[in-house]
Amino acid sequence: MSLHPQPAAAIRAVPATTPFVAPEELARRVGRTSLIRIGANESAFGPSPAAIAAMQAAVPLVSLYGDPESLDLRTALAARHGCKIENIVVGSGVDELLGLICRTYGALGDPVLMSHGSYATFAFQVVGHGLELHTVPPFADGAVDVEAMLARAHEIQPKIVYLANPDNPSGSFIERDAVERLRDGLPADTLFVLDEAYSHFVTSGTLVPDGIDERTIRLHTFSKAYGMAGARIGYALASREAIATFQKIRNHFGVNRTGQIGALAALEDQSFVRNVVAEVARGRDEYHAFGARIGVRTLPSQTNFVCFEIGTRQAAEAMMHALLERGVFVRKPGEPPINGYIRVTVGTPEERALFYEHFTAALDGLRERVS
Ligand SMILES: *Cc1c(COP(=O)(O)O)cnc(C)c1O
Repeated sequence: MSLHPQPAAAIRAVPATTPFVAPEELARRVGRTSLIRIGANESAFGPSPAAIAAMQAAVPLVSLYGDPESLDLRTALAARHGCKIENIVVGSGVDELLGLICRTYGALGDPVLMSHGSYATFAFQVVGHGLELHTVPPFADGAVDVEAMLARAHEIQPKIVYLANPDNPSGSFIERDAVERLRDGLPADTLFVLDEAYSHFVTSGTLVPDGIDERTIRLHTFSKAYGMAGARIGYALASREAIATFQKIRNHFGVNRTGQIGALAALEDQSFVRNVVAEVARGRDEYHAFGARIGVRTLPSQTNFVCFEIGTRQAAEAMMHALLERGVFVRKPGEPPINGYIRVTVGTPEERALFYEHFTAALDGLRERVS
């Protein structure tokens, strides 16, 4: 008999993993107080001034709990997406909602399907809830193989199929008809989770139009184009039944008061978002042009980041570390076939200029070490 309280067996069986080491921790590891922060796909262009003002005005009332129904925000979101407030739940970021979805729809050992190497936090939630993760290899550029996903789904009959579109970390995007083919072709009792964290940045493609589908949960966040990652606001669009089920078990006061007030103001400032999207598209083009100029391949992207090819997994890791030593925070895809790339968030023009300088110098350093 053990002498100490033990976690439940299912939790004891979970391997100790951290989906991401935070830039604060990375800075501490290299003895710096700050880094050029182009690794977590946070917005370099900040939140809307209207959102900042609303949050500043709200701070003195932080002694109060927020509205657990997030009614003002949901009302504005419902108008924006052409649905009812009963079709929306707000959470402390998409990451929390991914956990809620796993908890709600999966029982211990249930199969769940995603594209191999796609969003690490989803995989983390699946494993942490004792569900069984199955993956399908993506194409060589990291893009999701829809036909292979469908075939696998019919083989394993998953409870949940997850698709990030646009995808993180590849940056690839699947056109509307392929997404609908996947959604409509799944087994009848499979839940389709469509994570659209980067949907604002799709500038040459067609998204699935708004609309509630009984078997789909769509996820959106204020962390990317709205520039409010630290406010922790995300939301899910789904059937009334799904939302009512979440209502039974979600963390009711988990959405912070200041954050939801800021998100509402941000939502009302769409011209700011359009500007951010245009800035990001410019920065993305610049990254591709920089890669072409120095002979480094980049992956097509419909997001606020671009992947640069370094070589082997070891070479990409060495590059990530060399950049960190120089005070530049980037990340890299963890899984093949794109684990020889580094993933770089679109920074401000100044951050981009510094990145080019450090990247070129770090690349020279790596080449010297190899030769
Ligand atoms: C950044 C990101 C999110 C956002 O998560 P939040 O918890 O809302 O900050 C969700 N999904 C993907 C694929 C992402 O890259």
